[in-house]
Amino acid sequence: MRKDNCRRVLIISAPSGAGKTTLVNHLLMSGLPLLFSVSATSRKPRGDEVDGREYYFITAAEFRRRIRRDEFVEWQEVYKDHYYGTLRSEIERIHDDGMIPLFDVDVMGGINLKKIFGEDALAIFVMPPSVDELHKRLLKRGTDSPEKIQMRVEKAASELILSDRFDRMIINDDLGKACREILRVVTEFIEEQ
Ligand code: ADP
Ligand code: 5GP
Repeated sequence: MRKDNCRRVLIISAPSGAGKTTLVNHLLMSGLPLLFSVSATSRKPRGDEVDGREYYFITAAEFRRRIRRDEFVEWQEVYKDHYYGTLRSEIERIHDDGMIPLFDVDVMGGINLKKIFGEDALAIFVMPPSVDELHKRLLKRGTDSPEKIQMRVEKAASELILSDRFDRMIINDDLGKACREILRVVTEFIEEQ
């Protein structure tokens, strides 16, 4: 393994429902030197989410204050009034531990992080088999209201056309195959000299 992880980052983006969280969890359990980069968000916790584990949950006012203080390396208003952002302090914390931060971010966030980290970043786009299948997965997951699901599906169409801005695309149709494929490309990136 390349010893110097002090600049490298892994970016994973996808339209909501494509299976990004599932694949991210697979990577985090693989034993590779990756640590999940916990973003800040102004949305409310969902289900059994814990502050500091899935997200740092803060108010919209606090989020805007931190933008003014330049605490984010990137941030997006992913959905109306719902801000999400990657804290500079989080990246430093992970690099200081000799690990590679794994960013689970929306498509525009992924493109922006790739611009910032360049060759030090591997940017992966998780592609659903179709928008219809994406809709079905969000319904089955059952974590969002019908209006929120509709909003996520509408946003997906504009995100899919940006997949060519990423280094690699993983099609998540057969989950087992997608898990093997993502593990292979991330291992290659980490072992690169
Ligand atoms: P995202 O983080 O991209 O919004 P999730 O990982 O939460 O997506 O996946 C959305 C839903 O689809 C979850 O219920 C998950 O279990 C399911 N899912 C993930 N991958 C597949 C797959 N290849 N085939 C069928 N269902 C899947
Ligand atoms: P959710 O509300 O489902 O947790 O996340 C909604 C979207 O926001 C997902 O696509 C997720 O990857 C994205 N997201 C989470 N954290 C960040 C971040 O720090 N920056 C950006 N740009 N997007 C984020």
